[in-house]
Amino acid sequence: MILNDGAPLGPESLKIFETLPYHCLILSPDLRILNASNAYLQLVGRTRELLMGRNVHEIFDENLNWRRALDAGMEQSFQSALESGQRHEMPVVQFFIPNWTAPDTTPKESYWKMSHTPVFNEAGAIAYVIHDINNVTEQIISEQYLQESLEMEKQATAKANLSSRQMRQLFDEIPAQIAIVLGEDLIYKYVNPAYEREMGQGRGLVGRRVLDVMPEVNGKPIWNILKDTYQKGTTFVEAEIEIPLPTEHGNEMVSRYFNLVYQPFKNGRGEIRGVLSFKYEITSYVLARKALEQREQETKDLNERLNQAYEELMASNEELNVTNDELEGINEQLRQSHEQLRRLNAELEERVNLRTQELTRLQEKAESESERLRFLLNAIPQQVWTVDAEGHLLAVNDVLCHSFGETAAKILEIGMSSFTHPDDLPAAYQKWEEARRSGHEYQAEYRLRFADGSYRWHLGRAVPMIEDGAVTMWLGTNTDIDAQKENEQRKDEFLSIASHELKTPLTSIKSFNQLMNRVRDGQQMGIYIQKSYNNILRLEKLINDLLDVTKINAGKMIYDIQPFDFLEMVRETIENMQLTSSTHEIVLNSCEPFEIEGDRLRLEQVLINLLDNAIKYSPGGEEVLVRVALEAKHVIVCVQDYGVGIDKNHVNRLFDRYYRTDNTAMRFEGLGLGLFISADVIKRHYGTYWLESEPGKGSSFYFRLPLAPDTAPGPIIDGHTSYEDAHISVWYNPALNQIESRWKGYQEVDSVKRCGLKILELLQYNRAKKLLNDNTEVLGNWSEAAEWVANDLMVNLESAGLKYIAWIQSKSAFSRLSAQKAADMTKVSIDMAFFVDRTAAEVWLADKN
Ligand code: ADP
Repeated sequence: MILNDGAPLGPESLKIFETLPYHCLILSPDLRILNASNAYLQLVGRTRELLMGRNVHEIFDENLNWRRALDAGMEQSFQSALESGQRHEMPVVQFFIPNWTAPDTTPKESYWKMSHTPVFNEAGAIAYVIHDINNVTEQIISEQYLQESLEMEKQATAKANLSSRQMRQLFDEIPAQIAIVLGEDLIYKYVNPAYEREMGQGRGLVGRRVLDVMPEVNGKPIWNILKDTYQKGTTFVEAEIEIPLPTEHGNEMVSRYFNLVYQPFKNGRGEIRGVLSFKYEITSYVLARKALEQREQETKDLNERLNQAYEELMASNEELNVTNDELEGINEQLRQSHEQLRRLNAELEERVNLRTQELTRLQEKAESESERLRFLLNAIPQQVWTVDAEGHLLAVNDVLCHSFGETAAKILEIGMSSFTHPDDLPAAYQKWEEARRSGHEYQAEYRLRFADGSYRWHLGRAVPMIEDGAVTMWLGTNTDIDAQKENEQRKDEFLSIASHELKTPLTSIKSFNQLMNRVRDGQQMGIYIQKSYNNILRLEKLINDLLDVTKINAGKMIYDIQPFDFLEMVRETIENMQLTSSTHEIVLNSCEPFEIEGDRLRLEQVLINLLDNAIKYSPGGEEVLVRVALEAKHVIVCVQDYGVGIDKNHVNRLFDRYYRTDNTAMRFEGLGLGLFISADVIKRHYGTYWLESEPGKGSSFYFRLPLAPDTAPGPIIDGHTSYEDAHISVWYNPALNQIESRWKGYQEVDSVKRCGLKILELLQYNRAKKLLNDNTEVLGNWSEAAEWVANDLMVNLESAGLKYIAWIQSKSAFSRLSAQKAADMTKVSIDMAFFVDRTAAEVWLADKN
């Protein structure tokens, strides 16, 4: 490009240029300012002189505002115009053009477009460059507006799309039923899922006519309303429409409530295209509201009642007010009484204190009384119990607990019926009910189970305790009647045996009498008469025995006590007995004759019984031995046989009424009365009896009688260290620090008691701990004294300090049994041992300290 050096323009040209309404500069190719239009100068607020000849870059560089042109590439633009020879336009530049006439005002934001146009001379070289600047502010702003509105439109469209989607989603999710039906035929265009569920029942509604879906609505008001909405464009709004609809299973109709809106659906031009149906179920709300209304009604009713009550209250209040006035008067009186009361109270307190002390004393007394009662209950050697009025067990004594082998607590818990034989319970209950009803004494017999499992018959008795006219408690006892029961049983057996025994001789007598009627032979007749007589005798004896028992029982047996020759009586009895027995020989072994005071016939009866038994119970035997001896003013008689003998279990009871041992009862005739009668006779003569027997070998029955009732021997020596009489010798052995006793001969209750007390006396005096008790010489039975020995003598001996007894046994079985009985019964803790041999007993005792 050829550049001119910028030859000056003619004045006219310049004038024209200066007045041009454009903002422009004429520049030399090296960009010096050659001239500026007036408009330019005005725009930039400079004089021509300030600009002329200066480099355009420098000018622009001086001003921050103008420098924007440089930053926007003005230099490049010049360059481009110069190089290309073409007009070059710069991008729009923003300037802040000050208002030169009012410099204080804020420059206005404006946009300018600058261009550089090369001007060629005739030689085709660039002579000038026209720099012009155009205000494009309006254009730029309108472009910006355009751009913004386009942007806004875009956003609006996006927003519209979004809200349409949201609207649809909203319609889908809204719990209301929404449908849009279009056209004259009202065809479903849109239904939301809730509407589809309710009305379409899954068949798909869109595209179908309302009437096809719900033909039943044709002609109904709702259909007309829908049609009116479409045709007339009226909006229909109805709240709480009640529609009866089938339940889920369709078997029942229930009322449901809806809010309904039919809204005409218009297009952009406002023409009705269809109807929007909006149905919203409010059943739960309506029901809740109805419930609330009902509640409100109830509350209202209640309120009314309360109001009434309040009014009544007010009325009573009024009355109360009146009463209050009266009360105030009374109050005054009360105040006075109060003072009086206070004084009384103090007195009362004093009295209560005294009463409390009294009560405490009484309570203590009651406690000690109940303690005493307990003691009494336990002191009674019988089973004792108490029950309340209903029959609940309240207390039992130790004896009862011991018998049942249970604690009192356990017995109270399970009741006495648990120990009663089940067979006896119904009768016992019945008796109890009768007693409760009548309030009379209760009495029943029942079997009670003992700790060892055995049942024993008891007589239960209870008496009511009556306080203030009512039964508060029953006090009862159980008495062991097992032995009586057994006796009763034996009595029953006895009656049947007795009738049999009586019948047998009678039958014989009858037979012999018939025979006697028939025989003519005198000798034969004599035999029959004798046999018949024997049976009469037997019958007589049986009847006499029975009569005797009756007399003994009634205490009416009369004894005719006379001195008589005892041995003579024995001999005569033996002779008579021998006449009736051809099988046995009765042998008498006797002492010298002597006299005795007694009832001859009764003692004879004793001997007859013993001889009768000796013969009867030794069927294979040939001999019966009778011994009579005198000892210390007593006669001892022994009847010995070699027969069946007696088991030792029966020995103690043989002398009881009706008692017969099992092995003899079946084999031998008898009523079990002989020994009972004999025992009574002996006792009435102050005598004793006993027996010694071995089964299979025979028995010895003894009885011992005083020659005269007052023949008991007195003491021989009496002192603090020794004592002796006919029954005992007792002495203190100082070397061994022990008491030694030697019992002698036959013992009975009196002798045992007297001698026992002598032992106690010597023991106490000499403070001994050991007793050597020798029974070797003891004869006979003293079992009646055994209980006294166990419960009295032993207890006293223990209290006196006795610790050990060496007991040398008697040779007499009866005596041994008596000793054993005493030892078994006693509850003391004395160490006792039995010996056969004296030396062994001495050795054992020597070992004790
Ligand atoms: P019973 O009429 O039965 O003989 P007792 O009272 O005389 O009546 O005798 C009672 C029982 O004692 C007898 O049933 C018998 O079992 C027994 N008994 C009496 N004496 C003897 C004896 N000598 N030998 C064996 N048992 C006897």
